[in-house]
Amino acid sequence: MEQSAHTEFEDALTRAWSTQRENHSGTVADYIPELSKADPGHFGAAIATVKGQIYTIGDAEVPFTIQSVSKAFAFCLALEIAGPDLVASRVGVEPSGDPFNAIVFDPGTNRPFNPMVNAGAIAVAGILHEHLGADAFDFMMERFSLAAGRPLALNEAVYRSEAETGHRNRAIAHLLLANDALAVAPDAALDLYFRQCSIEVTATDLAWMGATFANMGACPRSREHAFDLGPVRSTLAVMFTCGMYDYAGHWAYDVGIPAKSGVGGGIVGVVNRQLGIASFSPRLDAKGNSARGVGAFKVLAEHFGLHAFDCT
Ligand code: GLN
Repeated sequence: MEQSAHTEFEDALTRAWSTQRENHSGTVADYIPELSKADPGHFGAAIATVKGQIYTIGDAEVPFTIQSVSKAFAFCLALEIAGPDLVASRVGVEPSGDPFNAIVFDPGTNRPFNPMVNAGAIAVAGILHEHLGADAFDFMMERFSLAAGRPLALNEAVYRSEAETGHRNRAIAHLLLANDALAVAPDAALDLYFRQCSIEVTATDLAWMGATFANMGACPRSREHAFDLGPVRSTLAVMFTCGMYDYAGHWAYDVGIPAKSGVGGGIVGVVNRQLGIASFSPRLDAKGNSARGVGAFKVLAEHFGLHAFDCT
């Protein structure tokens, strides 16, 4: 008898989760002091469909900060608000092959390589602040919430912790200003960036946000429009090539879907026109990606034949 889709999603999640449960590799991020308090044992995953179904396993309702996963959604909003030409004048779309926090710029343009690494994301925050001023964070929060299908909130403690200690990002912001890749005060761009990284989500929220991208910008949970179509397409392209930092090539090779990770332990993946997939486990590998999350995505990609170039 043919397995119902319902059971198939649940079985696949169970398989992915149980194969990774005993994976104790990696370490919780501690360079932002507040992140070091995360429980390394937490592990959850979720799949949301564009038709509005949700399947979850493990700690899918445990909140954590979105961190760099926010970069994809912020980039999408910057394209909408400022237009692709202005955005292209501030940040590139080439994989850098460098770690997420590298202090490196494209030598040809003096711009950050792409919006998925810190330098590019701070430039994107600068664009949003330039166009929306003091309202930029509320705007971002509203759209992120529409994409998640519920109101999200800021984790004040993580925000303060990063704002107090983020000197490397501060250095990057000042270099952006020196390179004309920022048109607002570095502190304004940084404050928005630190806030956007401290938005609290669950794996379930991230799965819905991924499904919103898969669904051309409309959240399948709330049916609300969160993002414009053109920017979604462009963002998925950059997620595909740059979303996993200096693991992006391996990820494209092994998993083969657009994705974005964050040091809070979250990963979101998008199967275009079909699914949003998310995992949460705070132990990170050497590249700063969730170790169990990467493992779980490999199992799911294999199980469903999700790879963009699968022939079946
Ligand atoms: N807020 C973090 C930072 O700038 C985000 C990094 C990440 O998730 N890779 O360091």
